[in-house]
Amino acid sequence: MTARRPYILIVGAGIIGASIAWHAARSGARVTVVDGGEPGGIATRQSLAWINASWGNAHDYFRLRVSAMEEWRRLERDLPEIRVGWVGGLLWDLSPDRLRAFVAEHQSWGYGIRLIDRAEAQRIEPHLAEPPEVAIHVAEEGAIEPLDATLALLAAAADLGATVVGHTPVRRIALKDDRATGIVTDEGTLDADVIVIAAGAETPALAATAGLSLTVSAPANLLVVTAPHARLLRGLVMAPALHIRQTADGRLMAATDVDDRDPDVAARSLLETMSGLFRSKPALSMESHALARRPIPDGGLPVIGYADGVEGLYVAVTHSGVTLAPAVGRFATREIIDGIRDPLLAPFGVAGSRARAKATLAPRS
Ligand SMILES: Cc1cc2nc3c(=O)[nH]c(=O)nc-3n(C[C@H](O)[C@H](O)[C@H](O)COP(=O)(O)OP(=O)(O)OC[C@H]3O[C@@H](n4cnc5c(N)ncnc54)[C@H](O)[C@@H]3O)c2cc1C
Repeated sequence: MTARRPYILIVGAGIIGASIAWHAARSGARVTVVDGGEPGGIATRQSLAWINASWGNAHDYFRLRVSAMEEWRRLERDLPEIRVGWVGGLLWDLSPDRLRAFVAEHQSWGYGIRLIDRAEAQRIEPHLAEPPEVAIHVAEEGAIEPLDATLALLAAAADLGATVVGHTPVRRIALKDDRATGIVTDEGTLDADVIVIAAGAETPALAATAGLSLTVSAPANLLVVTAPHARLLRGLVMAPALHIRQTADGRLMAATDVDDRDPDVAARSLLETMSGLFRSKPALSMESHALARRPIPDGGLPVIGYADGVEGLYVAVTHSGVTLAPAVGRFATREIIDGIRDPLLAPFGVAGSRARAKATLAPRS
């Protein structure tokens, strides 16, 4: 007798929901992904998409991030349409003392991180106008085009039999006693064995309909994207004034903190800063700008696992979701289908999130 294939309903078709969908479909589950908008996510499509373990100083979190970087390499092997640019990250948005301490700590954890001087920074990014005196470089970091990767995961899940439904907001989680039995949309109720909330910044609102209290903030960054330009950057650059990368098709994409200026004025000023970063002071043409919001659970750390007290309800919300997506997808699938929770997820449970250490991590990329 074969075991019945579980039916998993995922709310949210951003990179987290898409990764869970593909991993679950590949493991034999029946899967439906429902999104209130166009599949591809909200934070996901505006993400700088730096895949790294250079951010976040809790050791448990570092280990999860490093494992996620390996999972991206595994995903590239499993799905040839996923291509990470392993282009390296150059970072100097901390004081020299903090850079040194950061490098010492992460080297002691086995990370391929190096402190470099101005000459080497110039060699790594030859177009920079003023390379920093001291910086961090991690050659093994990378970036992806997050919307392309998310759509590739959804398409691959669909090839395995998953259903992806867009433009269908989920109004609430259907409950029977203390069990989540399905989702309620304007079209009716859909039942399933397990409901996964992967709704990014909207996760708390949906979780609240099942009586679950979660805190997820969604601070905004100013994001400017230019028209394609000849190559100016090889890798990712995290400078004090902006975080920037150049996409596969040549667009420069930069994010910075929001200030109290009019967003149009602030965006023009960021565009000037972007141009000023380079020796040639290129004339960049702004294609779009936006206030991009990133979901950040209370305390800055991921919230991934079954909800306490609501059977059949699984939550996956995190900052750095692009970095973490393949690990979250694989680990969540194993927990849902085989009942095995990966030890790397141990500190990041849903109930645990309420009582976790108060190590608040300032948002970077
Ligand atoms: C400017 C910026 C820079 C960033 N830089 C990085 C970086 O360098 N590296 C990194 O790893 N991460 C980065 N992040 C964070 C990363 O992008 C996010 O952690 C990740 O995209 C979150 O993915 P998600 O699928 O959880 O959420 P989203 O992409 O927001 O997707 C959630 C989906 O849920 C849907 N949804 C919500 N509510 C409902 C509902 N009730 N019914 C149906 N559907 C619903 C939404 O429509 C959406 O499609 C950045 C984010 C921003 C904004």
